[in-house]
Amino acid sequence: MASEKWGRDAINRVCTINRVCTEQVGNRKRDQIGCCVLLPTGKAALQAWQEFWQRGDRTFKLKIGVEAFEEELRVFEALVSELPTIARLRLDGNGGLSVQQAIAWLEACQHIPKVEFLEQPLPPEQFDTMRQLAEQYPTAIALDESVATLAQLQKCYHNGWRGVFVIKPAIAGSPSQLRQFCRNHAIDAVFSSAFETAIGRQAGLKLAAELGNCDRAIGYGTTHWFDQGEMEDFDQLWQTL
Ligand SMILES: [Mg+2]
Repeated sequence: MASEKWGRDAINRVCTINRVCTEQVGNRKRDQIGCCVLLPTGKAALQAWQEFWQRGDRTFKLKIGVEAFEEELRVFEALVSELPTIARLRLDGNGGLSVQQAIAWLEACQHIPKVEFLEQPLPPEQFDTMRQLAEQYPTAIALDESVATLAQLQKCYHNGWRGVFVIKPAIAGSPSQLRQFCRNHAIDAVFSSAFETAIGRQAGLKLAAELGNCDRAIGYGTTHWFDQGEMEDFDQLWQTL
C-alpha cells in the first residue's frame, strides 16, 4: 500500500506520464526506455516502489544527503534487498555530500549491481575529486548540476569526464548545439526533466529518444511530485529533479 503521500492519484498520474513518454519516444520499446521514478526519502521508499513496479516501472531514484547517513544507509540496504534483481536504483546527492560521505556511499554500492549510478555526490567545484572517485569505484557517477548548461557539459567532457551526463534540455541551451555535441561525442547521456512546459517536455523527450543512452531510463518520472499540494517550496521542488 502506498503511503498517504503516495496516493493513487499520484501513482496513476506518473503511470500516465510514463505511457505518454513511451508513445513519444516512438519505436523504442517501453522496457528499453522507461522513466526513472523518484521515490520518497526515508522508510516510505520501501513501500512506494512496489506499486510502481507492478505498473511496469523498473528504475527508481532515491535522494540521499537529506537525513542522517546511518538512517539513509539502513533504508538503502533494505531497499536493495527488496528490489528485484532487474530493478535499477539511482542515488542522487544533489551535490550535497561531503567527500567522506561520497566515499561511504560508493563503498556501500560497490557490490550491488542494481545501483545504476550515484548522481552528483559533490558540488560542481569538486569536479576533480568526482573524476578520481569515478576511477576508483565500480559504481558509475553521473554529473547533473555540474552539466546544467551545454557550456558546462562541454567543459566537463573536455576535462575528461567519461561517466554519465544528466542532461536537462529545458535548461541546457540551444537544442541544435546540444544535438550536434551529442552526435559528435559518444557520451553516456540520461535526459531529464526540469520545469519545462508541455512543449518543452515534448522537445526534451524527442532529444532523449534521439540522443540518450537507450540502456538507461529517462529522467521524466518525477512529475507525480508536482501534484503534491505540499510541494510549494521552490527549493524543495528543485531538489526533486
Ligand atoms: Mg539530480
